[in-house]
Amino acid sequence: MPDLEDLYREIILDHYRNPRNRGELESPPAIRAEGFNPLCGDEVIVYVNVTDGVIDDIKVGGQGCSISQASASMMSATVKGRTTEELDRLNRAFKSMMSIEPDPDDPAPDNGNPADVKLGDIEALKGVVKFPVRIKCATLSWHTLTQALDEALDKAQTP
Ligand code: ZN
Repeated sequence: MPDLEDLYREIILDHYRNPRNRGELESPPAIRAEGFNPLCGDEVIVYVNVTDGVIDDIKVGGQGCSISQASASMMSATVKGRTTEELDRLNRAFKSMMSIEPDPDDPAPDNGNPADVKLGDIEALKGVVKFPVRIKCATLSWHTLTQALDEALDKAQTP
């Protein structure tokens, strides 16, 4: 039986060495958001296309440590083709896995327990919780995606 931590390390290294959805989308029409983690020097740029509440396409750029870049790759592979509602659930499940307290101003919607959400490869980042300084590396791409989607929503609401 391979050690679970070895398996997780393999998954993280695979995403780091062969990042999924790496590149750029033309913006506009795509929304572009940039995230920076000064603690580690990580940078993540997220390009996202949202049509009728579905994340049609996503590309990720930037540079930084293996955790931040692998997390961005996993995030992009997981959210592509999902609805923004599903994304909300994934985001909550991921943050709860990373031991981040939910925002009290942002109550969880009644659409299931985050523990029921399948995170797939993203679960490989579970071990990062043991290294609190690296949690920001792992969550950077998710924050950046949320930022991009907030912007997309703003634009959709402005005539
Ligand atoms: Zn980092």
